Amino acid sequence: ESVLDVANLKTYFYLEKEKVAKAVDGVSFHVSPGETVAIVGESGSGKSITALSIMQLINKPGEIIDGTVKLHNEEIQNLTSKQITKIRGNDIGMIFQEPMTSLNPVYTIGNQIIEMLRKHKKINKQEARIKAIHLLKLVGIPRAEQVIDEYPHQLSGGMRQRVMIAMAISCDPKLLIADEPTTALDVTIQAQILDLLQEMKEKFHMAVLLITHDIGVVSEYADRIIVMYGGQIVEEGTVSELLHHTKHPYTKGLLESLPDINQDIERLGTIKGSVPPAYDFPIGCRFSTRCPYVMEECKQAIPKLTKMEENNNHAVRCYLYQEEVVKK
Ligand code: SF4
Ligand code: MG
Repeated sequence: ESVLDVANLKTYFYLEKEKVAKAVDGVSFHVSPGETVAIVGESGSGKSITALSIMQLINKPGEIIDGTVKLHNEEIQNLTSKQITKIRGNDIGMIFQEPMTSLNPVYTIGNQIIEMLRKHKKINKQEARIKAIHLLKLVGIPRAEQVIDEYPHQLSGGMRQRVMIAMAISCDPKLLIADEPTTALDVTIQAQILDLLQEMKEKFHMAVLLITHDIGVVSEYADRIIVMYGGQIVEEGTVSELLHHTKHPYTKGLLESLPDINQDIERLGTIKGSVPPAYDFPIGCRFSTRCPYVMEECKQAIPKLTKMEENNNHAVRCYLYQEEVVKK
């Protein structure tokens, strides 16, 4: 049974002049207990909107127009805002990119963790404070007894991210969603934070949905990779399958931008151009405007996400691997 099951999720933004941005357009995947699944893609690929949709945090002009999101087999996309608020923080822990953290600058670290704990658990202030100090120690914050009474600006970016992790795990969620959790941090701190996430995941048997633009990060921390482009999944598979038997031209391009991760892949050079805006995708394959292999049929219809014959856990959305296409 999956912790998270997303099926045919579509989140569109209705912009002015009848423009519709299909930010997430038919995305399906699951996360199993204890598993780390990474969603990878450039900015504008739809990965963050996927995360926000799962947590029911889409605001106008955005709207989830189709699909289901199941948490432990229960649909959560039609819950009231009161019900979903209970799930957020309690069943789903969330960590965002550092500058976007939900740490409030005017409250102490302690007050924020205590408030979070008391929102979801029936404990008094004293008990919550003790638990908060315990959590801060658990995530490797030195002088926890003092830090609890400090304000966010008194901590470094890495320490603030540790506090966010403490808050995210405070109510023992079964699923942790981390959206670019280390993007704003120094390289050495990044590794420490990802190691901490990994450690907490194992300690609390959480499933993790890790969202990142950096495919280099995921090889070490994820079990499976989902590559998104133009609001759709274009390739998915286990980390080793994806890195060693890379199929989609976009995934190859992403890997190409990393110097040493995989010497076996065909060298393509970096991906030229940029992600088209979600209200202006090309007809056909959404990567066709940038793909070095583009063919006539690519511009006619969107290829299907197709399981590879040799490995059922590996799927690719590209005509190069879709045999039923009759080449003209
Ligand atoms: Fe490139 Fe065509 Fe494959 Fe799209 S379907 S990725 S344009 S080869
Ligand atoms: Mg993002």
